[in-house]
Amino acid sequence: MKYISTRGNAPTLSFEEAMLTGLARDGGLYLPERIPQMSHAEIAALEGVPYEEAAFRVMWPFLGDTFTEDEFRGILARAYAGFGHAARAPLKQLDQGHFLLELFHGPTLAFKDFAMQLIGQMFETSLTRSGSRVCIVGATSGDTGSAAIEAFRGLDAVDVFILYPHGRVSEVQRRQMTTPVESNVHALAITGHFDDAQARVKDMFNDFAFRDAVGLAGVNSINWARVLAQVVYFFTSAVALGAPHRKVSFTVPTGNFGDIFAGYIAKRMGLPIDRLVVATNQNDILHRCLTSAEYRPDGVSPTISPSMDIQVSSNFERALYYAYDQDGAAVAQLMDELKGGGFSVSQGALEALRESFSSGRASENETSATITSTLAESGELLCPHSAVGVKVANEMRETGTPMITLATAHPAKFPDAVETATGVHPPLPERMSDLYDRDERLTRVENDLAAIEALIKERVPQ
Ligand SMILES: *Cc1c(COP(=O)(O)O)cnc(C)c1O
Repeated sequence: MKYISTRGNAPTLSFEEAMLTGLARDGGLYLPERIPQMSHAEIAALEGVPYEEAAFRVMWPFLGDTFTEDEFRGILARAYAGFGHAARAPLKQLDQGHFLLELFHGPTLAFKDFAMQLIGQMFETSLTRSGSRVCIVGATSGDTGSAAIEAFRGLDAVDVFILYPHGRVSEVQRRQMTTPVESNVHALAITGHFDDAQARVKDMFNDFAFRDAVGLAGVNSINWARVLAQVVYFFTSAVALGAPHRKVSFTVPTGNFGDIFAGYIAKRMGLPIDRLVVATNQNDILHRCLTSAEYRPDGVSPTISPSMDIQVSSNFERALYYAYDQDGAAVAQLMDELKGGGFSVSQGALEALRESFSSGRASENETSATITSTLAESGELLCPHSAVGVKVANEMRETGTPMITLATAHPAKFPDAVETATGVHPPLPERMSDLYDRDERLTRVENDLAAIEALIKERVPQ
């Protein structure tokens, strides 16, 4: 299995190379050159199998010869052992025909654990075999950084440095990044906003001398291995509700389009998905694009669902690649136009997108009201991101086709918004109830590239 860039102008790579590289050299994102198919019988056979076994069957055809079967089974076993629910991704019924897929039972209580835990183990196996080391540097507004630290802590072949905006992440998110005691974990609190942290990380990747000196690697949401890990729960949940014998639809709270794009891959593999509904908060560039064909960033406004506060949705490029009939030059052209302020999706490509995707948005008030009403009507306490999904799903549901809404974080990760909406303070799960008592360890850094690079160089074993 070979991987190609969405912009059609980068070397083709193996799965292992694409995983370790992240972004392609032409600025594009990696995709498999063809999408493996699962037959009706193979999908039906997923019913009732353990999550790790389903994950093996769904992902294996994408991996080429990167791992032996035994290695990959070991990786999966270690990746999901720390989840607080035997089903890993349990389904709960909210209402007639409406189900919640709980993706928040991982170690940092957000769906990003499904991908991060897996790539932590895949990196370790691959790097140990080659005898090399990498230095993972990432920027976070909260969830990605905590998931990355949790996934890479204590691994021998990896150092992990996470830049987060000082004073601008929730206390739970901060503590998840600052309380791990392993010496390969470095939480860096930068003066400024998330955009500053993100910009300094980009600068480091563009500083080739530094990049090579420390062995920089990225694990942000454009990493193909992360998308692939998320394909699995679309299969397990659809099969639990009767697929492949009947169709199901999904509503996905969306920011960078990684999670919902995984659903699109599942559909292209043969899973009978009717609608994939994009749910955005008031930062609704994706909803605007799917309704008007215009993709034009117009600034970010902070919301109570901060992990979806984005200007530019990076994985959308992958959906555009298929909507433009796998024409890399056309995608490269759009991305050039984006630098100048935005682009219009062609009529043909818009129709192709609308064949699979629908969209809706939730305002701040609607999000909060959905947390309140869902608790009253079904007893379920939603995090604000999941509430955006439930609000949009309620508008888009059609009788006869089950709707599965992805619950992307545990309510205890965003306790203030939940308490404001319901009066209930959501408790942390038992297994992490001492989070508020653990010692914190962090390094304050200024928004200054040279200083940050010097600090990383000093800490990385040469
Ligand atoms: C990252 C995140 C999202 C958005 O996911 P994308 O894959 O970027 O679309 C939604 N909810 C939560 C809680 C998140 O952490």
